[in-house]
Amino acid sequence: MRLLLLGGTSEARELAALLVEAGIDVTTSLAGRVARPRLPVGRVRTGGFGGVPGLRAALADYDAVVDATHPFALGMTANAAAACTDVPLLRLERPGWDPDPTWLYVDTHEEAAATAASLGTRPFLTVGRQELARFLPALDRHEALVRVVDVPDLDLPASWRLVTSRGPYTLDGELDLLGEHRADALVTKDSGGTYTWPKMAAARRLGVPVIVVRRPAGPQGVPTVHDVPSALDWVTART
Ligand code: NAP
Repeated sequence: MRLLLLGGTSEARELAALLVEAGIDVTTSLAGRVARPRLPVGRVRTGGFGGVPGLRAALADYDAVVDATHPFALGMTANAAAACTDVPLLRLERPGWDPDPTWLYVDTHEEAAATAASLGTRPFLTVGRQELARFLPALDRHEALVRVVDVPDLDLPASWRLVTSRGPYTLDGELDLLGEHRADALVTKDSGGTYTWPKMAAARRLGVPVIVVRRPAGPQGVPTVHDVPSALDWVTART
């Protein structure tokens, strides 16, 4: 069994460790977006495949695929669903956060930016480097605090403050950051999971409004599980 694991998430790293322990030949694929990624155990390949045709060609070396990419990695998930016509594919997608009645859900990052602009002037943006351009039109005169893993290649407004760091975070650290910035809104994707949950708990405790960008729809017709043990079962059932 040669497994291709589309990664870039903590779940993918957890699954890779369990698969290696189970003696399965797993290759984790990373997009190569961050400068110093946390590497999983087992074999790793880095960089895009070259769309659906490139992925289809690469699949000649594998017997099955687990797509454990982030819930907002739409392109890779769509490509996997399109390319895996002759190779079994499983989607491993962590659940979103249990909705809180006070959260403001929006469908797009532009809507999130407009909502933050309507709430105040000091939003805390935790949506990732790639989405920041979508916040500029509505928030370029605001005092935004922006947290990303790597510095974006985008000229940010002088009034924005950039913090580079990577989770997991602590509640105390998030309380300090939100309080020190005097944030009047927190903007996040509905990423789910525990790594970035403390910011949500901190916002709740401080009464800071939370704007949550809804998840895109998952791939149609692809078997999907929501936790690592279920993905491990799916793979081992095929060995
Ligand atoms: P994306 O928009 O879905 O993917 C764009 C292109 O990047 C894909 O078509 C593919 O290029 C390449 N790619 C993406 N994931 C890949 C992987 N695991 N292995 C090889 N190539 C990959 O992806 P994204 O949102 O930029 O996310 C990139 C990576 O970061 C993903 O692996 C994801 O798990 C991780 N991540 C994303 C987020 C997020 O909020 N989007 C958050 C945390 C982690 P080709 O078409 O050339 O194959």
